[in-house]
Amino acid sequence: MGISTPSFMKKYFTDEEITKLQKKNALHTGQFNELILIRLTKDYKDYPRGTVFYKGGFIPGYPRIMRVLHLKNGINRYFKDRFYVEEKVDGYNVRITIVNGNPLAFTRGGFICPFTTNRIPDLIDLNFFYKYPGYIINGEVVGPGSPYNTEVIPYIKEDVVFFSFDLFDKSGKNLSAEERYRILEQFKIPHVRKWGPFSISDVDTVREVVLELDRDGREGIVAKPIPDGRPIKYVTLSSCLRDLQATANLITELPAGFYIQRILRAIFFCHEFGISLDDHYLLESAKALYLSPERVLKEVADGGNVRESFQIKIRSKNTTYELMEHLNRSGVSTKLLSIEKTDDYYSSKFHRIYTKGTREIRHRLMGHGFFD
Ligand code: ATP
Repeated sequence: MGISTPSFMKKYFTDEEITKLQKKNALHTGQFNELILIRLTKDYKDYPRGTVFYKGGFIPGYPRIMRVLHLKNGINRYFKDRFYVEEKVDGYNVRITIVNGNPLAFTRGGFICPFTTNRIPDLIDLNFFYKYPGYIINGEVVGPGSPYNTEVIPYIKEDVVFFSFDLFDKSGKNLSAEERYRILEQFKIPHVRKWGPFSISDVDTVREVVLELDRDGREGIVAKPIPDGRPIKYVTLSSCLRDLQATANLITELPAGFYIQRILRAIFFCHEFGISLDDHYLLESAKALYLSPERVLKEVADGGNVRESFQIKIRSKNTTYELMEHLNRSGVSTKLLSIEKTDDYYSSKFHRIYTKGTREIRHRLMGHGFFD
């Protein structure tokens, strides 16, 4: 076992496994005050990427969710019996728990998110953990005050809101949906909307739910089998357009597959629901795909950068610096613009800067050739 790997890892892995993981560079050590945290950077056996180990236990990584492009057939294919349907909300994934007395929020990759950690008291009732010590609340932080997402969320006008959608007990077991609803309700922990229970013969009702979500500008659903099993996710047509609108300014950054996926999701949705894409949808998609990048090109030609703007609300000034460090550590360049005191909070503005994309556009503007 390597010198840098603490002995508590032996509770989870054999010496050979630890060596194997180290060779793959899959164990990253971090620290929070005195606390040593080991972050798993690749899926390994029952532990998903983003699992965090520490002396007193571990925080399971949030598992990937399989997507279906045909709702009815997906439900019939994967579910045998009853299931719940939950709203899929679009923000960033966090796991909130208390480790050694510290309320902490972990990102999907297993980093402590300084912003979310700072805002935990605004997001949930921490008394929950007195009754359920060691439990881990999984959910999504959504809203225009997010430090990670820029997509316009039509149903949240300011700051951020937390929606829980999974609950792990202290042994790392994902509780059944019914148990989770019951436990989270006791402390009024905000939860995504849910429908059901349904059986597979209710698929038409599920389709109605999806159509309503689509009309309301919501992202989609995650259907979860009862009592447990693998969930499936399905998104609305309108969410595909919003994704294009939110990201087309980053066309030089994102893989082409990102856009192809949205087009496929949209046409599968139309096929299943018997919808024809109207001129509004088509025009807005084309506008997003051409006009946003065109604006970015102009900005870079004028000496600017490919960038996104964020404004967040925090309880302490220092959290802004910690967040910048956290983003920089994860390979994101930032420029802090301002920190202002507003009542009991601070409001910070910053840019996320995409240096590689900026350089690429600049080179092309300068006439550099390339093979495509
Ligand atoms: P994945 O990791 O599942 O392949 P992803 O990280 O690209 O996917 P999405 O495609 O947006 O993310 O879908 C999965 C994510 O949706 C989950 O990781 C979770 O953060 C989020 N989510 C939102 N609402 C729910 C919900 N009700 N139940 C489960 N997950 C939800």
